[in-house]
Amino acid sequence: MLSSTLLGSVLESAPDAIVIIDLDGRMLFANRQMQALFGFERRELLDANIDLLLPERYRARHAEHRLRFASGGGRVRPMGSGRELFGLHRSGSEFPVEISLSPIHDDGLLLVAAAIRDVSEHRQAQSELLEARLAADRANSAKSRFLATASHDLRQPLQSLGLLNGSLRRLIRDADALEALNQQETAIASMARLLNALLDISKLESGAIRADVADFAVTPLFELLCREFQPMAQAKGLTLLWSGRECSVRSDPALVGQILRNLITNAVKYTTAGRVELRCVASGERVLIEVADTGIGIAAEHLDAICDEFYQVGVPTNAAREGYGLGLSIVKRLVDLLGLTLTIRSEPGRGSVFGLAIPLARGKAADSPPAADPALAPAAAPRQARILLVEDDAGVRDATRLLLRVAGHAVVAVATREEALAAAATAGGFELVVSDYHLGNDGSGLEVIAALRECCPAPFNAIIVTGDTSSAMRELPQDPRLRLLSKPVHADKLLALVGELLPPV
Ligand code: ADP
Repeated sequence: MLSSTLLGSVLESAPDAIVIIDLDGRMLFANRQMQALFGFERRELLDANIDLLLPERYRARHAEHRLRFASGGGRVRPMGSGRELFGLHRSGSEFPVEISLSPIHDDGLLLVAAAIRDVSEHRQAQSELLEARLAADRANSAKSRFLATASHDLRQPLQSLGLLNGSLRRLIRDADALEALNQQETAIASMARLLNALLDISKLESGAIRADVADFAVTPLFELLCREFQPMAQAKGLTLLWSGRECSVRSDPALVGQILRNLITNAVKYTTAGRVELRCVASGERVLIEVADTGIGIAAEHLDAICDEFYQVGVPTNAAREGYGLGLSIVKRLVDLLGLTLTIRSEPGRGSVFGLAIPLARGKAADSPPAADPALAPAAAPRQARILLVEDDAGVRDATRLLLRVAGHAVVAVATREEALAAAATAGGFELVVSDYHLGNDGSGLEVIAALRECCPAPFNAIIVTGDTSSAMRELPQDPRLRLLSKPVHADKLLALVGELLPPV
């Protein structure tokens, strides 16, 4: 048992300020820290009312608080939980405090012991932390806005550049000039890749991409991807194949396709010999889809970082190299959006396996494979035709008109729905309509095409050009006379699709 002298010195040297009061608020005991905290001599505190240490505004209700503490029988609890408490220094300045109350029973009398702690520094740190978080949030949304605006506004001029390059390649015969144009085309394609990656990130950040979950079969998707990537793999002498039994999964087929496209692009890019294999294995409630390669592999110390933006193994930021270090960061965002898991196994010099675990389908999956990008369909022999072009961006409109004209077509180019309907009435219809999807205040290209179909008796095919394939895809009517082309449009792809959609002579 400790002696009362020892107990007294424990209270005296406690790190918190400790005061004992009776139910009238009279201070019966104050330790050394009380003097330091409030700036009073101990003799000034003893027998004085606790009101002395409270800012004026709290005094009127303090007696009430004491009575409430007593009527509850008194139990150990923090004072004023959820409210900010302040102490009053002798100098008149206030400081934030935290107070713990404990009852003391002394000869049938209820006393209150209060341990008081100055939390000025803690509050200061908290508010600095909050301020820093708000500043970081502000900077992050400014970055997202900048990214969205810059990439969106870059797309139209880039689109025009690509189309003008396509026109020039058809007009120019001089070998050196053609070589310059080919190099320019490569540079434009590389800019388009970066821009598409930035647009993808910006759309994912802004929440504009939403998952459209459905049951779908994996093998038709594998077949589609193998067809799509065969030329790229063949150009490097790699074998591209898929294996696994038919299984169906539940997720967004278009976004899963985009994840796999990024993984296959990397697998081919980072493999110099051997093969790239798509595998699908059912395990329990999930299906594991793997993209495996026999490429250069990734050392263990890089595995955690390769999904970060702009991270490339062994390449300092800003160094020139194929790719921008964005592919896997897009994959990671898509995987998070879909609530899937991505695993990476890799051995330097032997290859890598990227695994995507997807929940099994609930019902029977749709049999039809996801629609192929119409731009990849084989081109038919071109012929000349009367084409109506609807595009609200003047630069893109002029470049597209020039390309179509160079290819021998008769083009009427308009900016609005009204102009489109007027042109159709004057010309007595067109054989093909090429329209932008987003037409500003004029609604969508789909609406313009529907209006044209109503007013023109002669049937025509149409191409919708869009950077926003996901929403256009959702709205796209089941119309075999309508095709979608995604931005930035490559001149050759546009002309090939035009040739394919023209009615036979
Ligand atoms: P990028 O390929 O444009 O550099 P990514 O974000 O797609 O950017 O990939 C980041 C890095 O991860 C790459 O630079 C590469 O070093 C590494 N990497 C990704 N996939 C593979 C792979 N299949 N094999 C080897 N390295 C890979």
